[in-house]
Amino acid sequence: MNESLSVDVAVVGAGFGGSLTALILNRIGFRVAVLERGRHPRFALGESSTPTADLVLRDLARRYDLPFLNSLSRYGDWLQSCPDIIRGPKRGFSYFSHQANHEFECHADHRNELLVAASHSQASADTHWLRSDVDSFFVQQLESAGISYFDQTEVTVEDDRPSWQLVGSREDGTSLFIQAAFLIDATGEASFLPKTFGLKQLGDRMRTNSQAVFAHMEGVLPWETMLQQQDARTIDHPFPCDAAALHHLLHVGWMWQLRFDNGVTSVGIATNSKASPLNPKLSATDQWNQTLNRYPSLAKQFASSRIVAPKNEICRTGRLQRQWSQLSGLNWALLPHTAGFVDPLYSSGIAHTVCGIERLCHLLEQHWLRDSLEIVLDHYASTIRSELDLLDELVAGSYAAMNDFSLFVPYSMLYFAAATTYETNRLRSSFTPEMAILCADNQPFREVVTQVTGELRRVVNSERSDRTSCHFFETVATAIAPYNTAGLCDTSVNNMYRYTAVEKSHSHRA
Ligand SMILES: Cc1cc2nc3c(=O)[nH]c(=O)nc-3n(C[C@H](O)[C@H](O)[C@H](O)COP(=O)(O)OP(=O)(O)OC[C@H]3O[C@@H](n4cnc5c(N)ncnc54)[C@H](O)[C@@H]3O)c2cc1C
Repeated sequence: MNESLSVDVAVVGAGFGGSLTALILNRIGFRVAVLERGRHPRFALGESSTPTADLVLRDLARRYDLPFLNSLSRYGDWLQSCPDIIRGPKRGFSYFSHQANHEFECHADHRNELLVAASHSQASADTHWLRSDVDSFFVQQLESAGISYFDQTEVTVEDDRPSWQLVGSREDGTSLFIQAAFLIDATGEASFLPKTFGLKQLGDRMRTNSQAVFAHMEGVLPWETMLQQQDARTIDHPFPCDAAALHHLLHVGWMWQLRFDNGVTSVGIATNSKASPLNPKLSATDQWNQTLNRYPSLAKQFASSRIVAPKNEICRTGRLQRQWSQLSGLNWALLPHTAGFVDPLYSSGIAHTVCGIERLCHLLEQHWLRDSLEIVLDHYASTIRSELDLLDELVAGSYAAMNDFSLFVPYSMLYFAAATTYETNRLRSSFTPEMAILCADNQPFREVVTQVTGELRRVVNSERSDRTSCHFFETVATAIAPYNTAGLCDTSVNNMYRYTAVEKSHSHRA
C-alpha cells in the first residue's frame, strides 16, 4: 500500500548520525521521518569514540532528555545498562613504531611506543562501538519514540522548492510520498544530496592522500601478549595497550586494531598513497598480506586470525578524502560525514558527527522559519569545513612524520593539545554553536599548527640527527604551551602519558 506523509524534516540515512539527529529533532518538537536505503543490522566502520564525542553525548542526553546516550558515553555505564550491545573499552591511544623486515623492538625507555591515556579508569573509559549493534539500537530508539522510519527505501527527489517532494521506492514494491520543509543528508560517503544536486567533489584538493584495507577478525592475539613474549616493560603502560585505539606505524602508513568484547577485532591498514601508490593489479587480500609479511611481529599476531565480516575476504576503500563544494542551502544541510572525510587517524569521525548534529539541531531550533536560518546554516557549513581543513592538516603532517617516530610523537601532540583544550573549554563554559572541534575555530591555534607543520616538513626534508629530533620536540613543546593543560611533551614520562584525561565529572556544568 502506498503511503503519504508530511513532515518538518526528512532525514535521509539511518546510521547512528541520522537516527540521533531525528531523535533530537523529535524531542525539540519537529515532525521527522527517517529514510534508510539498507536494513539494520549492517556492517559499518567508524567504531572508535573519543572523550570529545562522549562529552557531547552526555550533554545531548541531558539537554534533550535522551538518557540512553549517557549510558553509551562511558564503558562502565554501557556494560551495566546495555550489555547486549557489543562494545570494547578504549582507555586511550596507543602507538607502536615498526621497522620493515624486523621484529618489533622493545626498549626500556619505550622509544618505539607512545601511550596517551584518555580516561582515568576502565569504568569511565571511551568505547569502541560495534556499529551493527549500535546503529540498530539507535533505530530501535526511533521506533520507541514513534518517529516514522522507513528502511529498504530508495529515495528520489521530485522537487526541492518551496518544499521537498520525495518519493521512496520500497523493497516490497510500495511507494512512499514525503513532503518535507527541510532535508538532512545523513548518508555519509554515499552522499545522496550532493550527487542529486551534482555538487563538485573537492577531495583531490586535500593534503592527505590515503586509502584503506579492512576487515573484522577473530583470533588476533592481544598485542600485549606479543610484547610480553619479548619481555617488554608493559608494566609501565598507563593502561592495557589493547584496550585502546591501537596503532602500528608502518613504512606504508599505519594499522588500526580496535578490540570488541566479543572476541572480534576491527583491523585495517591505511596506506599513504603519496609515499606508496597502490598497485591496481593487487587484490585487497594481497595488499594486506604483502604488508603483513614485511612485519614479522604482526605476522605472528595475525597467524591464527580469521575474517568474520563484512565479507569473507579483506575489503578495500578508494581514496578516503572527500569534501563537497556546498554543505548547506536554504532548506537542507549535510551531516559532517556526508560533508567530507579525512582519514581514520585520530578517530575523529564520531566526535565530528555528534558535534555537527548538536550544532545543526540547535540552529534549527533557534532559527526555524526565520530569515536568519540560511545565514546560520552558512556558518554551520563553514565550521565543518574548517574542522575538515584542520584535520586534513594534522593528518597529512602525521603521515609525513610516520617514518620517524622521534618526529611523529611530538607532532601528534598537536592533536592531543587540540582535543584536550576543546574538552576543557566545553567543561568550563556552556555549549555555543560557534565551538568547533579540535579548536578549529581558534586562529592563534591554527597558526601554531601551520608553523609546526612547516617546521616538520623542513626537518623531514633535511638530513636528520638526534639533535634535529630534540629540537623539533622543543619547538612543538614551546608552540603548544598555551594549549598544554594535560602535561603533553613531557620528556620525563618516556612516552607514557597517564594523566592527560580531562576531568569528566565536571561535565554537568556544560
Ligand atoms: C575507513 C574508515 C575508518 C573510520 N574509522 C573511524 C574511527 O575509528 N573513529 C571514528 O570516530 N570515526 C571513524 N570513521 C568515520 C565514521 O565512519 C563516521 O564518522 C560515521 O560512520 C558517521 O556516521 P553516520 O551515521 O553519519 O554515517 P554512516 O555511518 O556512513 O551511515 C550512513 C547511512 O546512510 C545510509 N544510506 C546511504 N545512502 C543512502 C540513500 N541514498 N538513501 C538512504 N539511506 C542511505 C547507509 O545505508 C547508512 O546506514 C571512519 C571512516 C572510515 C571511512
